[in-house]
Amino acid sequence: MRRQRLRKTLLGISFFLFQYFLIIHLLLSPVLIVYGAAHGVIQGSFVVYGLIFLSSLFLGRAFCGWVCPGAGLQELCCLAVKKKAANRKFYRLKYIVLGIWSFAILYAVIQAGGYHHFDFFFAMDKSSPTRNGIMFFGVLVLIVPAAFIWGKWATCHYVCWIAPLMIMGTKIKERAFWPSLRLRTQPDRCAACGVCDDHCPMSLEVSTMVRSGRMDDPECILCGTCVDMCPVDSIRFSFRAR
Ligand code: SF4
Ligand code: SF4
Repeated sequence: MRRQRLRKTLLGISFFLFQYFLIIHLLLSPVLIVYGAAHGVIQGSFVVYGLIFLSSLFLGRAFCGWVCPGAGLQELCCLAVKKKAANRKFYRLKYIVLGIWSFAILYAVIQAGGYHHFDFFFAMDKSSPTRNGIMFFGVLVLIVPAAFIWGKWATCHYVCWIAPLMIMGTKIKERAFWPSLRLRTQPDRCAACGVCDDHCPMSLEVSTMVRSGRMDDPECILCGTCVDMCPVDSIRFSFRAR
């Protein structure tokens, strides 16, 4: 469980930094990418989103499980809504969000005549503590009520525009043959106790995955909770090719 304490501490720090440092808001801002595109500028959040996507080609959705500031807040909500699972039927909504956002970027960059400039800190000086306070409040409103109404990690399942980017990266890595971070299982060890199902923050049917030998559900954030909770060590992390 030391690993889970470390993970939750990292997420807590990430959430704390997000709350206090404007630059982190800005580097994760989906709006600034559109604004940059409208001026033909590749700016900081474009680079950060690119790096997050690249990380998924090797680390799957580990960014969600170990780094994302929003995940820190999700873990806090989990303390209260541990048993409430999100509804899988609505998981596709986030692809609509990604589609609208991608369309906005594309439209903006076409209007600007393409990207023709790189400025990492573009438009970041236009930010103000008030504007970022509103943004932070917006994140709280987006995450907390959703968790209580629709279940744990609901915003990540239904709305997050970063999740589909990483799901794409995860699917590419699953089809490729390069080494990457993944879960491995020994189905014959599984005692069908259901502990992994009860504790998976993403409400996955982990024991069913274990028995089928397929641990590559795209909603898995590689948090390692199932690895650490399984009493018979049936699930492990590995960094290998499939
Ligand atoms: S916690 Fe381990 S033993 Fe229990 S159902 Fe999950 S994989 Fe099987
Ligand atoms: S399957 Fe395991 S590693 Fe994946 S999200 Fe669930 S608990 Fe975390």
